[in-house]
Amino acid sequence: MKILIVEDERDIRTLLVKRLQKHYSVDSCEDGESALDHLSVYTYDAVVLDIMLPKMNGIQVLKYIRNSGSDTPVIMLTAKGDIEDRVAGLDAGADDYLVKPFSFDELLARLRVITRRNTSTKKTTLTAGDLVVDTVSKTVSRAGVPISLTSKEYMLLEYLMYHPNITLTRNQLEQQAWDSSFEGGSNVVDVYIRYLRKKIDSGYDVKYIKTVYGMGYRLEVPNE
Ligand code: CA
Repeated sequence: MKILIVEDERDIRTLLVKRLQKHYSVDSCEDGESALDHLSVYTYDAVVLDIMLPKMNGIQVLKYIRNSGSDTPVIMLTAKGDIEDRVAGLDAGADDYLVKPFSFDELLARLRVITRRNTSTKKTTLTAGDLVVDTVSKTVSRAGVPISLTSKEYMLLEYLMYHPNITLTRNQLEQQAWDSSFEGGSNVVDVYIRYLRKKIDSGYDVKYIKTVYGMGYRLEVPNE
């Protein structure tokens, strides 16, 4: 499952990203315009959307999402006591809201509810050629053959599959699979990409994981 967090307060955003990454693939941005950029490129299972944002506020972003015909679940974050904002958010099509400061466990619980509501109608498999990832059972297969991955390998692969044909930096991949206590700067991403390649690409003519020298890695989807 893939979540977008839109929050301009850096401390809150960083914390949410770090904690949600233990459960979901997470993208984040800090203003309304870049939220729309993300939403125009990717499909999310849920959006956590702050109301007070630079450039374009959360209500405007939400209206844009709904006007485009998308029913992506949205949880609004509102300031304490801001009842007008809350009502405007619900009127604009928010699925739920949380009043700051909120408990992280509550956010997780609400995300579980709104994503479950949508799962039945949403596709839960990601495919690239003959490579298939089921994001609910967290299982992977290639050409119909099941592949067993460790949780780190799975998280890296899922993140790559959610961003096909886009170069992801080592830093982005590292943030996705390792939490803040992890000391960066080592070659841990390269090591895990090597494990992943051995499991999904080795022995096949088509190689999905490409190295982009000096930048990072990319999952390349062949033209069907
Ligand atoms: Ca804000």
